[in-house]
Formats: sequence, C-alpha cells, structure tokens
Amino acid sequence: MNGKYGLNKREIADLLRDKDINPTTQRIEIAHLLFEKPQHLSAEEIRQRMNSEYEKCSQATVYNTLRLFVEKAVVRELIFSSDRIYYDSNIDKHHHFVDVDSGQIYDLPAHLLSTPDLKGSGLEGAEIMETSIIVRGKMNCEAGAGLDKQGCCRSSQRSSLKSRKPSPGES
Ligand SMILES: [Zn+2]
Repeated sequence: MNGKYGLNKREIADLLRDKDINPTTQRIEIAHLLFEKPQHLSAEEIRQRMNSEYEKCSQATVYNTLRLFVEKAVVRELIFSSDRIYYDSNIDKHHHFVDVDSGQIYDLPAHLLSTPDLKGSGLEGAEIMETSIIVRGKMNCEAGAGLDKQGCCRSSQRSSLKSRKPSPGES
C-alpha cells in the first residue's frame, strides 16, 4: 500500500503535478474521489458521484480525465470486457477476485498468484512485464470471514442467525 488514500485536495494537486498533470479543478475532484480508498469505479459511477458531490461535470471531461490518469499511471485500468471497465486507485501490483453473484471486485495480494511459467506455451523467451489475474468465483460466506469488513454477507440471515446470542432476559 502506498498510503495515498484520504488525501486533501492540496495533496491531490501535488500528486497530479508529480505525474506531470496540470491540476485543474475537475481533475483534482475526480482524483479526490478515486483516492478516498482503494476502490474500483466505472466511468459512469465516477460521473454520477461527481455530479452529486461536486459541480456538474460532463461525461467527456470524466472520460478524458480518466484516459489521462491511466496514461500517467495515476490509476490502473481494469478491463473485464468492452462494457465493463473500472478504474483502480490501487496501482500497486495485485490481482482481483470477482464475486459472480454480486459483481463485487476484491483485491488479491500479488504474492498469492505467481507469474506464469511460459514453458511449453510457444511463447518461451517472451518477457513478462506485468501479471494481472482476474479470478472469478462465488463468495463462501462461512469460509471468507476475513472479507466481512468489505461487506461480504453482512445481510446474510443465515450467518447472523447462527451467531445470534440470546439477549439478556431471554432464556
Ligand atoms: Zn484492485
């Protein structure tokens, strides 16, 4: 983690300047929103949140800004398919787990999945520059206890019933 989350707007402006980006008001606001925390937002989600939390911002401005941010490695582009593109505020090496039921995306630490061995693939000798693996699956609420803080199964009745303790006065 590079500790750049929850920055104020002045710190965001410095971050953009460091990346050779002229910190216009709208660029600062879009980056401020993205860097609240490690998250994966679509351009449409960003546009909607911009319009509710900041001044109105055109779709073209949002798209142009995001393209610039990707180019300058301010955020990472995560392409699942042509109509599912997300912008990731975590630019450290990591992989992703997608819960197929909810569509929720979770970060997986880079060390969990190693760089593929190309032996026998016909691509021997190719230089791997980056490995970004998308793992698709279904959340196992019972086993995935560590993910509870990210919202997994918070509303699951089964697990809340199971852990329910009798209230005082109830026998
Ligand atoms: Zn991520």
